[in-house]
Amino acid sequence: EEDAALLDLWEEGEPEPEDEPIPPVLAIVGRPNVGKSTLVNRIIGRREAVVEDVPGVTRDRVSYEAEWNGRVFTVVDTGGWEHDAKGIHQRVAEQAELAVDVADAVVFVVDSTVGPTSTDEAVVKMLRRKGKPVILAANKVDDITQEADAASLWGLGFGYPYPVSAIHGRGTGDLLDAALDELPEESAYGGLIPRGGPRRVALLGRPNVGKSSLLNKLAGSDRVVVDDLAGTTRDPVDELVELGGRLWRFVDTAGIRRRQHMAHGADYYASLRTQSALDKAEVAVVLLEASEVLSEQDVRILQLVLESGRALVLAFNKWDLLSQDEDRRWYLEREIEKDLAHVAWAPRVNLSAKTGWHKDKLVPALDTALESWDKRIPTGKLNAFLGELVAEHPHPVRGGKQPRILFATQPSSRPPKFILFTTGFLDPGYRRFIIRRLRETFGFEGTPIEVAMRVRE
Ligand code: GDP
Ligand code: GDP
Repeated sequence: EEDAALLDLWEEGEPEPEDEPIPPVLAIVGRPNVGKSTLVNRIIGRREAVVEDVPGVTRDRVSYEAEWNGRVFTVVDTGGWEHDAKGIHQRVAEQAELAVDVADAVVFVVDSTVGPTSTDEAVVKMLRRKGKPVILAANKVDDITQEADAASLWGLGFGYPYPVSAIHGRGTGDLLDAALDELPEESAYGGLIPRGGPRRVALLGRPNVGKSSLLNKLAGSDRVVVDDLAGTTRDPVDELVELGGRLWRFVDTAGIRRRQHMAHGADYYASLRTQSALDKAEVAVVLLEASEVLSEQDVRILQLVLESGRALVLAFNKWDLLSQDEDRRWYLEREIEKDLAHVAWAPRVNLSAKTGWHKDKLVPALDTALESWDKRIPTGKLNAFLGELVAEHPHPVRGGKQPRILFATQPSSRPPKFILFTTGFLDPGYRRFIIRRLRETFGFEGTPIEVAMRVRE
């Protein structure tokens, strides 16, 4: 039965083209507690369309696919804020800003039972500066007697305040009609948000290797603290960062920023964070210190990445310390050959988190690794490759028998997994040879690959 399913895959053919238009983007902004999450849930009808096929990976909670009157669009939630008392107004506005930058239109949510506050004013200023179409939602108008409250929001200067009750759904249809009137057919900015949401990156490495320095350098002033949907947890754990013209999600960054002051137990907490970040990520950037020899902890972190099946990029940090040191560079090359042979497929970036040198090399490496991780080899191509390989290098005869490969298929990606149907067990050496050739032929730079066997006796 299972074999029949696999044979269906064989028939399935080439992957789908990806040149469909990118739906327009609607950002929902406003200060905390006005009901943004409730409104987002109402709009998407709790159907989270960002489907995730990686087990153990949490869904993306920033952008959602929504549909109204037969039109598909993307809703971007601006997420939460940091609980720091000073400058909170400014923080809220800054965090809303990145979402507004990628949006084609904005729904600005105000709590009509409270009226405009100074935090709302900070958002108003930012929205004026941006000049994008704004639809004003006067939320928490749960019944007609409260409509007068909504009318008082005319003063904000964004036109008609749509009276809505996100919680009961009252008025949200009219609000969406108005929002869709402002949205173009295709996103003008959608390129910033990849299909399926920003890719999720874990920044890993032992304490003091330079993780928070790198994050700061990458994030610059465009840092956004993202939180969970629907007013549940408010841990500012992930950060959205714009790199190379796209948004990326750096997961579990709170664990990077929370300085470990205690001397012992630091290793333990570091490995806990590594695991939880890997659970959420699609690709890991493992930082290693270029000026020091590979430590036991580095090896452990790499092992966790390999076990997780995530894509991998190696970043040799603090390169500024050895730019003059020819000897160390020579030894580093030897160490990489010897100690990192098992991850020789991972792209390498030499950089300096401190000076920012080569930080722009990270995006191409991440793209390469993720593209490999996502890659699906059509069954026909895969079997043509195997046919040639076996013709050139048949499996050695063992005890008068020669196991044959009947056919192969790649049932899944992220990371790529292959199944070989054979008439007997393949030698481990022959299996390694196949994996090597798979990599050479199809270029799986940056991703682990798995090859399993199904033996037909
Ligand atoms: P956010 O911080 O802006 O995302 O706000 P939430 O969606 O978490 O909502 C904050 C609070 O306001 C929650 O207790 C909601 O239940 C409540 N709320 C949201 N929308 C409405 C509404 O239309 N009417 C009333 N009465 N309460 C609402
Ligand atoms: P984390 O514990 O991995 O987050 O490491 P930090 O980012 O806190 O960095 C630890 C120390 O290394 C700090 O003193 C940084 O200034 C320093 N550091 C980080 N990156 C570099 C770099 O590229 N070059 C040099 N020379 N020092 C760095």
